[in-house]
Amino acid sequence: MSRKKGSLDLKQEVMDSGACANCGLCAGLCPYIKAAGERVALVHPCGLEEGNCYRLCPRTSTDWEQMDKRVFGRERVDHVLGNHREIVFARSLQMDAAEKGQYGGVVSALAAFLLEQGRVSGAVLAGGPAGEAPRAVVATNRDEVLACAGSRYSASPTLSAVHRAVKEGINSLAVVGRPCQVLALRKMQGLEDGPGYPPAVDKVEFVIGLFCFWSLETGIYDLLNRKAGGQRILKVDIPQDFLTITTASGSANIPVDEVRPLIRPACRLCFDPTSEFADVSVGSTEYDPRWNTLIVRSAKGKEIVDAARARGIIETRAYPEERLPLLYQAVRNKKLRVLQALESGQGAGYLQLTGQYREALQRERGMNQ
Ligand SMILES: Cc1cc2nc3c(=O)[nH]c(=O)nc-3n(C[C@H](O)[C@H](O)[C@H](O)COP(=O)(O)OP(=O)(O)OC[C@H]3O[C@@H](n4cnc5c(N)ncnc54)[C@H](O)[C@@H]3O)c2cc1C
Repeated sequence: MSRKKGSLDLKQEVMDSGACANCGLCAGLCPYIKAAGERVALVHPCGLEEGNCYRLCPRTSTDWEQMDKRVFGRERVDHVLGNHREIVFARSLQMDAAEKGQYGGVVSALAAFLLEQGRVSGAVLAGGPAGEAPRAVVATNRDEVLACAGSRYSASPTLSAVHRAVKEGINSLAVVGRPCQVLALRKMQGLEDGPGYPPAVDKVEFVIGLFCFWSLETGIYDLLNRKAGGQRILKVDIPQDFLTITTASGSANIPVDEVRPLIRPACRLCFDPTSEFADVSVGSTEYDPRWNTLIVRSAKGKEIVDAARARGIIETRAYPEERLPLLYQAVRNKKLRVLQALESGQGAGYLQLTGQYREALQRERGMNQ
C-alpha cells in the first residue's frame, strides 16, 4: 500500500519541483498554505502526515479512468478530447458578453445566465485589468461577471476564492477555470468525509473549463506593459504565431517565440488542454474570433446549454467539418508530447493511465507517425 502523503510531500513533489500549476485550490483549504499574488506556498508545515491538500492537487496522482466514471458515469470513447455530447461553434447572443468576451463571450454569457437563473449564487472568476496579473473574483451579478470577461494568460491561483466564497456564505458556485483548476475541483469533489473535509466540496454546482495549451509566468505583464509603451492595455490575445496587445492607439504584435521562455514549466507536462472534466469546455475556434469552440460534456452541461439556447442567450452552429480534424490534431499532438515526456521520467508521476486508456493513446501515437 502506498504511504500516506501530506503538505510536506506536496511541497517537495509539487511546489519545489516546478510542477505546481498554480490552481490555488490548496490555498485557503488549510491556514498553512497561502496564495500570495501569483504563487502558492506552504508557509509552515502543519505537522499532519496526510492531507487533503495533497489529495486534491491536480499534479498528484490522478486516475483518469476512475475520474471519467465518477464525473460522467462512463468511460471515454474519445481518447483525445475526452467525454463529450456535443462539439459546436457557439457565441453569445447578448451584445454585452459578445463585445466584452475574449471571443464569442460564451463563458461570460453562461456564467451570467447561471446567476440570473438562480442556479448558482456566485461565480469564481479571474478579473482585473488586462495588463496585470489577475485576481480571484467572486461575482454575484451580471455586471461583475462582465467585468471579468477576457483572457489573462498567466496561471493565477484563483481557486483559493472557492473556499473564501463558501466561508462568506455563498452556497452554490459556478467556477471558470483552466484545465488544471477543473481537475483540482473534481478531485476535491471526490474527497471522502473526514478530518479537514473542505466545506466547499458540495458547493460547486457548475464547472466551465477553458481550453489552455499553456499559461505564462507573471513576467509576461512586464513585457506587455513595455511593449504597450505605458499605455493602458485593453486586450491581449494569442491568435497563433504571435501575441497581440490592444491599446487605445491600436494593436501591436509580439512573436510567440519571444514569450515562450515565460511558459510555466508545469504546463509543458499538462496532459489536458481542453478541460476534460468540466461540464462544458470553451476555447477559441482558431478561425473566427467572433465564435467559440464549445464542448458539452456532462448531462448538466447539456441541460444548461440547451436552456441557454432556448432562451436566446447563446447560439450554436455545426462545427465545420474541415476544422474538426485540426482540433483533434492539436490536442493529440500535445497529449503525445506530454506522454513522451512523462514516460521519459519527467514530472511527478501525476498521470495514471491504465489499461485501455494507455493502449488507445499508443494507437493514436502509431496513427500519428
Ligand atoms: C491561460 C490561458 C490559456 C489559454 N489558451 C488557449 C488555447 O491555447 N487555445 C484556445 O482555444 N483557448 C485558450 N484559452 C481560452 C480562451 O482564451 C478563452 O478564455 C475562451 O475561448 C473563452 O472565450 P470567451 O469569449 O467565452 O471568454 P469570456 O466570455 O471573455 O470569459 C473568459 C473567462 O475566463 C476567465 N479567465 C481569464 N483569465 C483566466 C485565467 N488566467 N485563469 C482562469 N480563468 C481565467 C475569466 O474569469 C472569464 O470568466 C486560454 C485561456 C487562458 C486563461
